[in-house]
Amino acid sequence: MQTKLFIDGRFVESACGGTIPVLNPFDNSEICGIAEGTAADIDLAVAAAKTAAPGWAATEPSIRGNALLRLADLIEKNGEELATLEALDTGHPLRDARKLDVPRTVACFRYFGGMADKFEGYLPPVYPGFLNYVQREPIGVVGQIVPWNFPLMFTSWKMGPALAAGNAVVLKPSELTPLTTLRVAELMHEAGFPSGVVNIVPGYGHTAGARLASHPDVGKIAFTGSTATGRKIVEVSAGNLKKVQLELGGKGANIVFQDAVIPAAVNGSAWAIFHNQGQACIAGSRLLLHEKIADEFLERFMGLARSIRLGNQLDLATEMGPLTSKQQQEKVLRYCKVATDEGGEILSGGRVPDRDELSKGCFVEPTIVRARPGDTVNREEVFGPFVTVSTFREDEEAVAIANNGHYGLGSGLWTTNITRGHKVARQIRAGMVWVNSYKVAHPSSPFGGTGESGYGRDMGFEAMREYTWPKSVWVNVDAKVMPHYER
Ligand code: NAD
Repeated sequence: MQTKLFIDGRFVESACGGTIPVLNPFDNSEICGIAEGTAADIDLAVAAAKTAAPGWAATEPSIRGNALLRLADLIEKNGEELATLEALDTGHPLRDARKLDVPRTVACFRYFGGMADKFEGYLPPVYPGFLNYVQREPIGVVGQIVPWNFPLMFTSWKMGPALAAGNAVVLKPSELTPLTTLRVAELMHEAGFPSGVVNIVPGYGHTAGARLASHPDVGKIAFTGSTATGRKIVEVSAGNLKKVQLELGGKGANIVFQDAVIPAAVNGSAWAIFHNQGQACIAGSRLLLHEKIADEFLERFMGLARSIRLGNQLDLATEMGPLTSKQQQEKVLRYCKVATDEGGEILSGGRVPDRDELSKGCFVEPTIVRARPGDTVNREEVFGPFVTVSTFREDEEAVAIANNGHYGLGSGLWTTNITRGHKVARQIRAGMVWVNSYKVAHPSSPFGGTGESGYGRDMGFEAMREYTWPKSVWVNVDAKVMPHYER
């Protein structure tokens, strides 16, 4: 297993010689130590990227695309190993890592591999006598900072479009979950990316991350993580006015109307919050139930939540693994207390499971809490298997509750009334809205938020726009209309 930094096409020790322990959240045992990248390593990586960037930008787009397609093939070929590493490191159930994380990563790299030679400029219809064309130019060196909840998938969301568009990349994975990203670095080397085009530097946020975000030679920083860190990134990015893209936190409202198909809504709503132990920015963490169906829905929903199989993430029977870290487990348990202190009621879960074999790990039972819309647990992101429930009478009331807050990332609604579905989808302030589904994503559809959930988009054509800037070229073909001094 690779544990060093990947800089300029080689795996190297870190400048400070320190290591970061990587833990298995099932029992908090140490899997390995990885080299700790610091500001000095980021400087080396940025220098390597700066040297490599012009050559990569000048490489024929289809050749860049082919490298991404080869990488996708290699990830697919090594899928079982990557799924196991991802499960060990993050706590994702292995069955999800196999079925979702690996295939989605492959699909995303393939999408952008195919996109490399299909992303076109355009010809604005300007004055007669002029030819004006707009071409998209890569930014140069792009810094990317990602969190610990879907580390493998984020390699493709971030590096896929950046590399397809002709940028060189320095990516800093989370200090908590760097293992699959380092393995992808090895596969990138095997896929034939030139030295310096891709650099992977694990390290802590306040050292390596802060240096990458403030580095004067980095033209853009793409960040996925918490809103608090996003604010810091914006501040330190001001030095060279680098372009910033932010995918931040969320507090997704998931509305079940009186005409919903209840079994489908129950199942989808459970997936919306409990998949990946609720550690998803788009999680449906605020359940809004029409009062007519609230009792029936809740009875089924609690029954489903209690039946979810918690266990060792490597056991294929496990449907919910541990949270990714002790801090995250403690944070979720803290919010259980905040909820009851403010008068909320824990309807189900709210505890560490009472099973000896899980006692050393970062587990929390699927938790359902009755809370009022203004309560802390309805305003702040918990980022765990923790869902609040409240009721509404009118559609307008549901929309008002859904839009009440600073976040605007993902939201869902369940109804069989087609007019209601489209109308409410239009009224909800969020970057993504799911109707009769939740948490669906595809490489061709933009992903991102509004408000304090950030700005910019991963995936789709939007991502290619994010990683390029438009250059407008004016050619005088027949100069009759050219402004001039009359002499
Ligand atoms: P975090 O903000 O603590 O850390 C994210 C990354 O930023 C890590 O790599 C970390 O090392 C780095 N970092 C920390 N401090 C930094 C600093 N001062 N300068 C530069 N980098 C720094 O977030 P987290 O706890 O790892 O992840 C959970 C958060 O991520 C949640 O809020 C979640 O909603 C959000 N998230 C958002 C999306 C999205 O697409 N909108 C997707 C997944 C997760």
